[in-house]
Amino acid sequence: MRIDRLLLPILLSMLLATPARALVVEGRVVRVSDGDTVAVAGKGGIEKIRLLGIDCPEKAQAPWGPRAKAFTQGKVAGKTVRVETDVQERDKYGRLLGYVFVGKELVNEALVREGLAMLYTAPPNVRYSDRFLAAQRVARQAGKGIWNSRDGLKQSPYEFRHGGRAAPASVGQPALGGGVAHAPERTGGGYATASETPVETPFVANTRTGKLHEANCRWARKIAQGSRKGFSSAEAGKAEGFKPCGTCLRR
Ligand SMILES: [Zn+2]
Repeated sequence: MRIDRLLLPILLSMLLATPARALVVEGRVVRVSDGDTVAVAGKGGIEKIRLLGIDCPEKAQAPWGPRAKAFTQGKVAGKTVRVETDVQERDKYGRLLGYVFVGKELVNEALVREGLAMLYTAPPNVRYSDRFLAAQRVARQAGKGIWNSRDGLKQSPYEFRHGGRAAPASVGQPALGGGVAHAPERTGGGYATASETPVETPFVANTRTGKLHEANCRWARKIAQGSRKGFSSAEAGKAEGFKPCGTCLRR
C-alpha cells in the first residue's frame, strides 16, 4: 500500500526522536530489606532495587525504620511489581534505582503519604518529585508517621547515617551513601534549595532576619528564594543560630 510506504519513514523518525524510555523490570518481590530497598526476581535474575526519590528511616530509628519496612512488606512482599527507572539507572552499588508499582499504585509515593519516608530528590531523577512533594506536604501537615510532633523522627535518615550532619545542598533530601545524588555543594548544613528542584523541608530559616519557621508558616512562605535555608529539624536550625519564629515555633 502506497500510504504505508509514505508513512513508514515518518513513523520511524518519530520513534527515533522519542527520548529513551525508562527501563522496566517486572517480577516478583522476593525480599524486602527495608522500607526503601527490595529485591525483585525478574527475567534477568534477581535485581536489588533502591526506591527512588524517597528515603526511609533507618532500622535503628525505631519505631519508624521497622514500620516503614513493615509497610513495604505489606504492599509488595511476594507480589508482582513493575519497576520503572529514571535518568540514572543504577547507583554505585549496582542497585537498580526505581519507581515500584503494584498495579497502579506507586509504592514510593505511598510511603511518603503515610509519613514513612522523606522526600529525597536527587537530580536528574525527578520524574515523580512533584507527586512526592505533594504527598509529603499532606503527611507533614497531618502529623502522620515521622511527622508526628510527639514521637516523630528527630533526625532525617541522612543526618542519622552521617552522625548528625545535615544534608548537602542541591539534593532534595540528601545524598545517599548509595551515590544517587550528584556532587554536593555544601552551604553549611541544612538543605539548601536548588533552584530547579522542588525541595520541601519541614523547617525553613530566613537568612536575612535570622528567624526559623515551620515550612508551612505564613511567614516562611514569604521568604525570598535567595534567603531561604531548609532544615530537617528545628534543632538543626537552632544549632546554626536561627531564632524560632514566635508564630509557628512558640513553645
Ligand atoms: Zn513562623
